[in-house]
Amino acid sequence: MPVAIDLSGHRAVVTGAGKGIGRAICLELARAGADVFAVSRTESDLETLGDELQPAGVRYGYCVADLRGSETAEYVAGRAAAALGPPDVLVNNAGVADNAPAAEVTEEQWDTTLDINVKGAFFLSQALGRDMVATGWGRIVNVSSQAGLVALEGHAAYGASKGAMNMATRVLAIEWGSHGVTVNAVAPTVILTPMAEAFWGDPERGGPMLDKIPVGRFGLPQEVASVVAFLASDHAALINGAIIPIDGGYTAS
Ligand code: NAP
Repeated sequence: MPVAIDLSGHRAVVTGAGKGIGRAICLELARAGADVFAVSRTESDLETLGDELQPAGVRYGYCVADLRGSETAEYVAGRAAAALGPPDVLVNNAGVADNAPAAEVTEEQWDTTLDINVKGAFFLSQALGRDMVATGWGRIVNVSSQAGLVALEGHAAYGASKGAMNMATRVLAIEWGSHGVTVNAVAPTVILTPMAEAFWGDPERGGPMLDKIPVGRFGLPQEVASVVAFLASDHAALINGAIIPIDGGYTAS
């Protein structure tokens, strides 16, 4: 008997919702019945996402924002609450990967990567987490990466950002778990999205990476989205502070 994920009555904020994994997460959460508030930088992506969500019959809102710090986080939290009511699910998915050999990483690349991938996610968790703690129920799922668990060449800033995200996940989990708010992360391997194509599309990089994935293939956005929907549900109430690999076994050895 399949375990049905029912998120009806919940209000989810998903960042980086315009493309790739974030878009798949929005569709999956909506299929499970959650209202969706999408955040991204390109408005046309968010408009077409709204069209795709229509068959699910859930409420949909969006705002365009560049998520980097506390001020934007407060703005997004206000817009989401005004559109749908207080969010009780947050998926911090927005992220960038501007990879370079360690000796060539610029300060700007470092700051941008850390600002978007960790600082933006942390302060949005803070802005929305306060209400979740006050009401006694909430789900925060961070989209991290296998690069936050194992060292990958060319990923100094990106790996540091995802490693930091993993630790922030654990700290929030122990602070908020007793208030009914679980905080977890997923750590995907290469997932076939515009971001991944830009780096792993080069066979010289993609081939050796593929060789290290025991299941023998890269992932699909839907394969991340279904785990996120599970973590957002009551079925996952006892999972808190976990960093869950979605990597076909890459990090098992
Ligand atoms: P993607 O295809 O590049 O899509 C990223 C989305 O995030 C886009 O909609 C983008 O908007 C948005 N975004 C980026 N920076 C933003 C910011 N500062 N503020 C608001 N929105 C922002 O990426 P993806 O591959 O789906 O990756 C999604 C997440 O999964 C990232 O956190 C990434 O690190 C993680 N991840 C990806 C892989 C992979 O192989 N794909 C593997 C492990 C982890 P615009 O396009 O408008 O800029």
